[in-house]
Amino acid sequence: MRVTLDHIHDEAHNIRSFFFKPDGPFAYIAGQYTELTVPHDSPDERGTKHWFTISSSPTQQLLSITTKLATEHASTFKQALWKLPIGTKLHMADSMGDFVLPKDKTIPLVFVAGGIGCTPFHSMIQWLTDTNEQRDIQLIYSVNRPEEVAFKSLFESYAKKFQLLLKEPSPEWDGPTGSLSADKILELVGDPTGKMIFLSGPEQMVKGFEKDLLDRGVERHLLVVDDFPGYTTI
Ligand SMILES: Cc1cc2nc3c(=O)[nH]c(=O)nc-3n(C[C@H](O)[C@H](O)[C@H](O)COP(=O)(O)OP(=O)(O)OC[C@H]3O[C@@H](n4cnc5c(N)ncnc54)[C@H](O)[C@@H]3O)c2cc1C
Repeated sequence: MRVTLDHIHDEAHNIRSFFFKPDGPFAYIAGQYTELTVPHDSPDERGTKHWFTISSSPTQQLLSITTKLATEHASTFKQALWKLPIGTKLHMADSMGDFVLPKDKTIPLVFVAGGIGCTPFHSMIQWLTDTNEQRDIQLIYSVNRPEEVAFKSLFESYAKKFQLLLKEPSPEWDGPTGSLSADKILELVGDPTGKMIFLSGPEQMVKGFEKDLLDRGVERHLLVVDDFPGYTTI
């Protein structure tokens, strides 16, 4: 599908949402992803195509992706994306993926986001908000520093429990601190019985938590994962 860059919004430090107007109807379910092509001169080995979660909600007119610009060794793709003029036409692949809300609306959900892994949760929570559907959601969101928190007001306004975990807190921070781990997730969740846990973030983090949570007795069918390759840390 051909899409046109409509506007850009800074969500947090070095984190931006890019909003696109599709040429025609673009069907997707909140939480799914797409592949965006950004043609540019002399691309590095990371290429001109990248996978991105669609951070907007199907209730919204524009499609968005939200991503982070690395402070060191940013790919030529990200550098080109950051410099795109408004009005640029690009190609976006059809939506795909099964990191989506369960059909059963009564299942209590635990969303665990590591850094930029917050993007599918933004899509889902925006969708639930716009469609006036209340689900039991606990959102655990881990970042390094306070300035890296994106979508805070939406998350705070919807989630039954919103827990922000800061690795490097500011002096005035009085919430949870430290690094996320399977044990920390279970401590924040309490009794996980019957709860569906969604993990989203850098590949290494998600794969590690997935294994550790399974080892600690979380049932396979209650664990849903979305891992982003290409990032080493949150
Ligand atoms: C299903 C799916 C959904 C995704 N959703 C999102 C999303 O919503 N938002 C998002 O931001 N990303 C998402 N990603 C990841 C995305 O596709 C990119 O892999 C990621 O953004 C990193 O982009 P980049 O390679 O341009 O690295 P950059 O962001 O430019 O850099 C990231 C860091 O990676 C290191 N690095 C990694 N590979 C190399 C290399 N080959 N050479 C040198 N340094 C390297 C560098 O140290 C650098 O600091 C998703 C991936 C998948 C598969």
